[in-house]
Amino acid sequence: MRLVRPKVRACVQSIQPYQPGKPVEEVERELGVRGAVKLASNENPLGPAPQVIRVLKQAAGSIGVYPDGGCYYLRQALGQYLKLRAEEIIIGNGSNELLVLLGLALLEPGDEVLTSQMSFVVYYSVPQLMDAKLIAVPMRNYQFDLETMARAITRRTRIIFIANPNNPTGTAVAPVALREFIKKVPKKCLVVLDEAYYEYADSRIMGLSLDLVRERENVVVLRTFSKAYGLAGLRIGYGVAPKSIVDAIERVREPFSVNHLAQLGARAALEAGGHMRQSVELARSERTRMGKILAGMGFKIIPSQTNFIFTQAPIRDSQKFSRDLMREGIIIRPFAGSHVRITMGTRVQNDKMIRAVKRVLGNYKK
Ligand SMILES: *Cc1c(COP(=O)(O)O)cnc(C)c1O
Repeated sequence: MRLVRPKVRACVQSIQPYQPGKPVEEVERELGVRGAVKLASNENPLGPAPQVIRVLKQAAGSIGVYPDGGCYYLRQALGQYLKLRAEEIIIGNGSNELLVLLGLALLEPGDEVLTSQMSFVVYYSVPQLMDAKLIAVPMRNYQFDLETMARAITRRTRIIFIANPNNPTGTAVAPVALREFIKKVPKKCLVVLDEAYYEYADSRIMGLSLDLVRERENVVVLRTFSKAYGLAGLRIGYGVAPKSIVDAIERVREPFSVNHLAQLGARAALEAGGHMRQSVELARSERTRMGKILAGMGFKIIPSQTNFIFTQAPIRDSQKFSRDLMREGIIIRPFAGSHVRITMGTRVQNDKMIRAVKRVLGNYKK
């Protein structure tokens, strides 16, 4: 008898599901280690500000009603913070949701999405979901190669994704180069500047993107509360976009995707700016400190504008290296060849990571 199943779209079948890491507790149990340190997902080691926790505890009783679908107060607060009108701001269930909604709103089958290799996984799954064509040009020196990307634009290019600074390589593009690039992009093609690590970058190289949204009709800037604000578990991010794009996203989104606690937590986090700045200071000083120590141990360090370090480790196989580190209670993220990405933790956590790396490399020499 032939087995008949509901038919899944061929393009969906081709999507690689996101591989979530195991919960830290499970890793500890399986490997028999205690006090494992997760430096694999670019989370904020300080967590959220104490004010945020207070607000969330007080609000826990109010989750019986639907959230404000328009995110009214948060958009007002962000408008003030960014000196923009609330109508130019869009809130998402993480900036991830906004990336998907942009794809849903803009892409016809066969359209092209242009980005770079070695960037954020969602840029590769959004075109697949929409039956669009992915064009990912190689990086140059671990950076987005904007010159090559400009040459790769065609009549069918509808979205260009640029992570600035980039995950996983940690590099940022120079403002002059970005402006030049955007001048070359046809107006009917949308440029998405994903600034998830905006807060961690040197201010000299940032600060241009919101001007670009205003100057051009085809630029969107995405930011998130998941990293410098320490709210990754709440799922909330935002975008600044021209009115036509805000309007399109409002049409494709579901009514209540941004939950009540996330909206309250994000507002409280914005008010607790000191905690965010402290988190950024920690990541900046630790990426310098760890960069030097790791370089001294033979790692090739890619200069970082983020809360993590991307590096070529003095080993052959990053998968094996990461597994060996996990047995020492340190969880990092392996990439192709000998590349790994290490999120900056607290000083204590990072020192523990260095000791584990020394032990693992020492064992390789034996
Ligand atoms: C972490 C990250 C995000 C943020 O995702 P959220 O859905 O807001 O948690 C977006 N883009 C990049 C490149 C990231 O690394």
